Amino acid sequence: MGTAVTTSYRAEGLPYPEDAPVSQALFDRASAIVPGGVNSPVRAFRAVGGTPRFMSEGKGPWLTDADGRRYVDLVCSWGPLIHGHAHPEIVAAVQEAAARGTSFGTPTAGEVDLAEEIVRRTRVDEVRLVNSGTEATMTAIRLARGYTGRAKVIKFAGCYHGHVDALLAAAGSGVATLGLPDSPGVTGAATAETIVLPYNDAEAVEAAFDTNDEIAAVITEAAAGNMGVVAPRDGFNQRLAEIAHARGALLIVDEVMTGFRVSAGGWAGLEPVDADLFTFGKVMGGGLPAAAFGGRREIMSRLAPAGPVYQAGTLSGNPLACAAGLASLRLADDAAYKRLDELSATVGALASEALDEAGVAHRLSYAGNMFSIFFTDTDVSDYESAKTQNAAQFKAFFHTMLARGVYLPPSAFESWFVSTALDDAALEQIAAALPHAARAAGGVS
Ligand code: PLP
Repeated sequence: MGTAVTTSYRAEGLPYPEDAPVSQALFDRASAIVPGGVNSPVRAFRAVGGTPRFMSEGKGPWLTDADGRRYVDLVCSWGPLIHGHAHPEIVAAVQEAAARGTSFGTPTAGEVDLAEEIVRRTRVDEVRLVNSGTEATMTAIRLARGYTGRAKVIKFAGCYHGHVDALLAAAGSGVATLGLPDSPGVTGAATAETIVLPYNDAEAVEAAFDTNDEIAAVITEAAAGNMGVVAPRDGFNQRLAEIAHARGALLIVDEVMTGFRVSAGGWAGLEPVDADLFTFGKVMGGGLPAAAFGGRREIMSRLAPAGPVYQAGTLSGNPLACAAGLASLRLADDAAYKRLDELSATVGALASEALDEAGVAHRLSYAGNMFSIFFTDTDVSDYESAKTQNAAQFKAFFHTMLARGVYLPPSAFESWFVSTALDDAALEQIAAALPHAARAAGGVS
């Protein structure tokens, strides 16, 4: 049934109808028993309005929803799927692993393979596998505190590091999208040791160290992707390392989004940085739940059971996730990164041209092959400038793209993600949708 619906609309070049009856019915069922109807807030379309699409299938660059409509996917599960959906080698690796057993609660060879691949690609001496980016950053903070014997942490406004209590302050992304200044349930004690500073402002970091001697670590996104995409100024990350080290503190670089997406070695592969700890997630799990943190041996050896800082996980290093992650990383060679770079340049340029043509002020902002469009005439370098964008214009743009078969992140504060699977048909569908979306945005003041 789904396929017939898809074909009849798109074959005639018509936009999909605004309502999506099957998704709506599923959303109604979900909303009765799941808070807000979703298992992660930004999926709920609250920032753009309308019914979230329930996806039933992904193949290469395409998503198919429960109403049988097909979209080019520019979200890629929020970053992990650099090879598109259901890549045959990744599917085969997961099937083969599943047939051997889904979890043992013991060490397995797959974990060693994945850890070795991460160490080979990055500057970490040792790595610990966990299940989510949130766990990775949470433990990196604990380890930094345990290692330095200090309590305070510097983070940047608009950077998101998962829903770790101490880091849920000015956290961009879903939090920004929902306009929540903070989250109830996070105690004052949990954020009392968190110092929030403007992104890209190394002087503010120096000043904070001048007035605080209890700082354990500075944590930063390798390149910010959760306030829209905002690249670090040249040398900003390395400057953070120098400032932190001069004061006996650590630098934690969060590569959960950038890691293994923007280059084989993540953002640090493009711009080396003397960070003490790195966090990874998304791409390294190949679409299954896997994440990691790693760093200098001297620090990592403080982790249990080698040292006293505790961390554990029933499903950590899960065999299916390791198999998917390893297969995904093995496919991510130089040619794949070249293709991701080219495709992101192409899609960004197409979008910018369409917006220029429609007279819509915007800023196209890249960090490696991650990019986003800010609907603003202000240059964006931090969270304050990111917030100058016109959310109503993005909303009109988003819905027109959706109706014309392109799935964008349903928030103006998120990165667009390309996959190597984007082919000519997918690019044509994007190119055909953009002028309509740009005109829709232009119609909003
Ligand atoms: N760090 C960064 C930079 C992220 O973008 C995210 C999620 O988007 C996280 C941490 C948290 O990862 P997870 O959603 O796997 O907990």
